[in-house]
Amino acid sequence: MAQEPQFSHVTSKGNNVEDPDPAWLASVTGSDQWCRTCRSLKPSVAAIDVCLATEPDNVHMTSVWPPGVMVISSELLEIIARHGGQANLHVGAVYGPDGKGRESFSSIRGRHRVVIRGGAESSMNTCSACGTVAYSPAPPEQVVSGTLSCLDIAETQVGLLVPADIARSIKRQGLKGLYVRKLKIVEVPQDGFEIADAVSVQGESP
Ligand SMILES: [Zn+2]
Repeated sequence: MAQEPQFSHVTSKGNNVEDPDPAWLASVTGSDQWCRTCRSLKPSVAAIDVCLATEPDNVHMTSVWPPGVMVISSELLEIIARHGGQANLHVGAVYGPDGKGRESFSSIRGRHRVVIRGGAESSMNTCSACGTVAYSPAPPEQVVSGTLSCLDIAETQVGLLVPADIARSIKRQGLKGLYVRKLKIVEVPQDGFEIADAVSVQGESP
């Protein structure tokens, strides 16, 4: 019997958030990358360099909020790259408050975005202007099998969806501060919502 592919959800244990550099944030929210309706980056935005107001936290996964861009450590990116997963990420640079690059961090936008679904108590809103799905999953977390057919790594609302080999490497290397949880794969979501399969963002990584 063929084995079902397994996916894990990698998220940060802490509620890590980095403050954006105000001038950089103003340039982003003043550009056409920004949806003024839902106040988030448009789904079409690929790689984006980020500028921080303070030193990034010494963690493997965090985000710059606003505007909402994931930042991961070079160790985590190396694990992903070793398994060939970097092709599925748009990778940008991270600049510290002195304007210099922080080589041990990268900003990440997934080429594929998947909504981690939840049970019947979950809530969802779709932005009428840009199509961004704002979804709050209630337990149990799950992912719809149809969204997995074309991808091996994807960005979720709060982390990364990764295949079993990457999940194993993260655990084996003992990266601290990360939750790596095997996801339940379902044919039909329990939330009753209609959500398109993985959103894919084309574009070139730098
Ligand atoms: Zn929007």
